[in-house]
Amino acid sequence: MKADGIKRLAIMGGTFDPIHYGHLVAAEGAKCEFDLDRVIFIPAARPPHKTKKEMTAPYHRLHMVERAIYSNSHFEISALELEREGLSYTINTVNAVREIHPQASIYFITGADAVLEILTWKNVEELLNVCKFIAATRPGYDLENLEHTLSCLPRQYLKNICTMEVPALAISSTDIRARVADNRPIKYLLPELVERYIFEEGLYK
Ligand code: NAP
Repeated sequence: MKADGIKRLAIMGGTFDPIHYGHLVAAEGAKCEFDLDRVIFIPAARPPHKTKKEMTAPYHRLHMVERAIYSNSHFEISALELEREGLSYTINTVNAVREIHPQASIYFITGADAVLEILTWKNVEELLNVCKFIAATRPGYDLENLEHTLSCLPRQYLKNICTMEVPALAISSTDIRARVADNRPIKYLLPELVERYIFEEGLYK
């Protein structure tokens, strides 16, 4: 990860199990809407709330993200969370990125469902002080629920969380995993190189 005089960057956080076109459209949309110089995809290694849940091995998720973003010069991948010991707290990730890019405004893009839980995250007030959140919503997403949950946050933090509707997020990783397991097609839901990787490695069977 190089500093390169970047002024505005976003961390794209998620498990990416697997990465699909919904994520890529969300990242590109945020890049344009928020005038970002760079979007850094950081696959979550050990999300604090998923300690018992089965996830595909981190190196597979990392390889799939690498294959998905290679052709976009504004996108980059970081194995920062995968290289760190212990649980993957977002505050630690954001602070590590701030050390590399001390001059940059930092955004954190993730799914609105994840942002809904933000009040339970480690050091949430510090987190909302040092970065802005972009909560990507799927078609039909219940925004009122999110707004209601966030309404208990002090006003100065509320302004640091915005939502972005991404129709392409009708695609979901859960659905893709189920399709592979049922031998249904996943073509055109995710980049061809990622599709090929899934079949070559026998993932989601
Ligand atoms: P997740 O299980 O991967 O996703 C939750 C929901 O959000 C899913 O519907 C997912 O859709 C969608 N989503 C995930 N990443 C997205 C992205 N970048 N853009 C658009 N939609 C996205 O996510 P998670 O494990 O809850 O965590 C999301 C991020 O929050 C991670 O970086 C994680 O480390 C962080 N987090 C931090 C803490 C903490 O610091 N205490 C706690 C929880 C989460 P798909 O299934 O289609 O991807």
